Amino acid sequence: MKKVPLRKCTGCGEMKPKRELIRVVKTAEKRDENGNVLVRSEISLDLTGKKSGRGAYVCQNAECFEKARKARRFERSLSCRIPDEVYDEMLGQIKES
Ligand SMILES: [Zn+2]
Repeated sequence: MKKVPLRKCTGCGEMKPKRELIRVVKTAEKRDENGNVLVRSEISLDLTGKKSGRGAYVCQNAECFEKARKARRFERSLSCRIPDEVYDEMLGQIKES
């Protein structure tokens, strides 16, 4: 039997196959040896599942998305603010599917 990687949906909390979920990723911040920020961490949608960084997942349905968004679960899970553009992008992705 082939093993399917499972991830937890930020909305409903269920474990789902990774490729059925939308992934939001926070790329790592880069600093120089003095601790100055060279590259700020960024929040973006990961449609390929290949971006490295800390990720949060949500089912491709508006219900899970709204639930997670209203409860600020993405923020909590990635410990930073999620830009509105990213939320819009996610919503667009859900509507397309
Ligand atoms: Zn869900």
